[in-house]
Amino acid sequence: MKKLVYSLLSGLAMLGLAGPAAQAQQMPAQRQCATMEVLAAQLAADPNYAARLQAIDQQATVYAKQKAANPAQRTSSSIIVTIPVVVHVLYNTDAQKISDAQVQSQIDVLNADFHRLNGDLNKVPAAFTSLIGDAGVQFVLAKRDPNGNATTGIVYKSTTATSFDSSDKMKYNSSGGDNAWPAASYLNLWCCNLGGGLLGYAQFPGGAAATDGVVILYSAFGSGGSAVAPYNLGRTATHEVGHWLNLRHIWGDARCGNDQVSDTPTQQTSNYGCPTFPHITCSNGTTGDMFMNYMDYTDDGCMQMFSSGQGDRMDALFATGGSRVSLLSSQGGAAPGTSPTPTPTPTPTTPTYCASQGNAASQYIDYVKLGNISRTSGSDGGYYNGTALSTSVAAGSGQTISFSAGFANKAATVYFDVYADWNQNGSFGDAGEAIVVAAGSSSKTTRSATFTVPPTATLGTTRLRVVMSTSSATSSCGTYAGETEDYTLTVTGSAVARLGAPADHYTVYPNPATDVLTIVRPAAADASQPLRVHVYDLRGAEVANLPLTNDQLRVSTLGQGVYLLTVSDGTTTSHQRFVKQ
Ligand SMILES: [Zn+2]
Repeated sequence: MKKLVYSLLSGLAMLGLAGPAAQAQQMPAQRQCATMEVLAAQLAADPNYAARLQAIDQQATVYAKQKAANPAQRTSSSIIVTIPVVVHVLYNTDAQKISDAQVQSQIDVLNADFHRLNGDLNKVPAAFTSLIGDAGVQFVLAKRDPNGNATTGIVYKSTTATSFDSSDKMKYNSSGGDNAWPAASYLNLWCCNLGGGLLGYAQFPGGAAATDGVVILYSAFGSGGSAVAPYNLGRTATHEVGHWLNLRHIWGDARCGNDQVSDTPTQQTSNYGCPTFPHITCSNGTTGDMFMNYMDYTDDGCMQMFSSGQGDRMDALFATGGSRVSLLSSQGGAAPGTSPTPTPTPTPTTPTYCASQGNAASQYIDYVKLGNISRTSGSDGGYYNGTALSTSVAAGSGQTISFSAGFANKAATVYFDVYADWNQNGSFGDAGEAIVVAAGSSSKTTRSATFTVPPTATLGTTRLRVVMSTSSATSSCGTYAGETEDYTLTVTGSAVARLGAPADHYTVYPNPATDVLTIVRPAAADASQPLRVHVYDLRGAEVANLPLTNDQLRVSTLGQGVYLLTVSDGTTTSHQRFVKQ
C-alpha cells in the first residue's frame, strides 16, 4: 500500500492553543482518514469483495428510493437500532490510556451526531437545514461480552507498539493489538496511537469480521483528557463510523465525484479547516459544497450534519437484506440476565391507494392478462381486489397487457385506462404512471396495448390498476360507470441494474480488471455516439489518456487500486468505480 506522508503542524504551540497534551502530541494539520486506501488494499486482496460491495450498494439504492417515495417516514425521529460498542484501548504511554470518562464522551458524541441532537446544529447554513438527516442509530457501551459475562464495554490493554498504521495490526493479539469481538453483534472501536498523520480509518460493510470496525487516534478520541484541538469534539469517530455504516466521502473520492447519495451536492474535492460559506465548486449552485457534513475533512468544530440521503443509506444496512441487520438482535447491549430493548426492523410502509369504484350495472371487465396475471371473470360488482395476483416485470423492459369488456345487456362504448405506481408513493398521478390509455370501443374482442417499464422504476412490489369506464375522462380514483381491478406488479432490476448501477447508467466489466475494461452502454443510449472517458485515482487526479477502442479501455498500465471512471456520450455522464488488479 502506498505510504501516506503528511506535513504535521507544529504551530499549535506557537498559536498558543496548546495544552500539556498538545505539546506531547502533534496533531495533523489536515484531517486525513485512510479508509479508502484500506478499501483499495482489501479489494485487491479479495476478488469477491467488489461484488459484495456492489450488492450492498444496490440494496441501499432500492431502500433509498422507497424512503424517498414515502416522505412521512423520513421525518421520523425514532431509533431503529441500538449498537453495542466495545472500545479496545491500546496504550504504550500513560497518555494513551484514556479514561472511562473520555470513552463515554465519544459514545455521547456519536449519539448526538447520529440522531441530530448535537448542540452545534444551529451552525448549519440555512440553505442546508432542510437536508439535515437523522440516522436513527444510537450506541451503547457493551454490557455483555461475547462469553455472556458482564463488561464495561472497554478493554484496556498495554502494548509494546509505540504506534500503529493502517495495516490492522491493532486488531490482533498476535501483533500487539486486541482481537475484535464478533462483528455481527458489536461495533469494534480501537483507540490507539496512529502514525503517518492519520486520525483514523474504518472498514466498510461486507469485509472480513476479524478486521471489521473503526480505528481512532487516541488524541482525536472523544472530548477532554487526551483529545487535542482541532480534533477534540469526537467528530473523527463520527466520520469513521459513517464509513462503517457505508457512507462515502462527500466528494465521492474523485474530482466532482459521486458519493452515491442523492441530496449531497457534487463537490470538487475535500475541504479542510473551517471554510466560509458558500464554497462553490463543480457548478454546484449558489449554496456550494456541503463542507459542514461529517463526511468531509473539515475540523471537528466545523462539521455538524449528515444529510437525509446519508441517513437512508445507513438505515438500509438494518432493513430486510441489509448487511448489518444482525446487530438488531445483538444481546451485547443488555447486562447478563436481562433482555435488550428490541428495536424493530424498519420496513417501509405499504402505500395506501385511493378508492376506485365502478357501478358495474351494465359493463364490467371480463379479462385481464399481463405476464402471470391472467383472470377471466363476470361482473365483480364494480371493484375486484386482485392484489394477490402478481407478475414480475423488469425495469426497462417492454410489456404487453391484454383486456376485454363484458356487457350485461347491450354493448356500450367503453374506455380502458391502466396505471402503475412506478415510484411506489401511493399515487398514480406521477409522470409515466398512466401506462395505457385505450380508445373507446364497444367490441367484446380482447384488445392489447404495450408499455415500457421505466428504467428508473423503484424495484419491488407495486400496484397495477385497470380502470374501465363509459367515459374517456375517468381518473384513477373515484366512482364512475364501469369497473376497477387492482393487481400487483413486482419490478425487478434489469440485467444492467443487477450489476449495481441504475439501469440508465453505463456499467463496466470485468471488475476487478487486469488488462481491458469493457464499457457497456445502457439500452437507451445511442450506440453510434463516441464515448469520452476519463479515469481518476482516489485523490481525484486524472490518469493520463488510456487507449479506448470499441468501448474497451486498456487499463494494463494502471497500478493496483480503486479508480473512478467517468463516461460521457454527449447526453449523459455516468460514474463507475472499478478495481485494477
Ligand atoms: Zn474518511
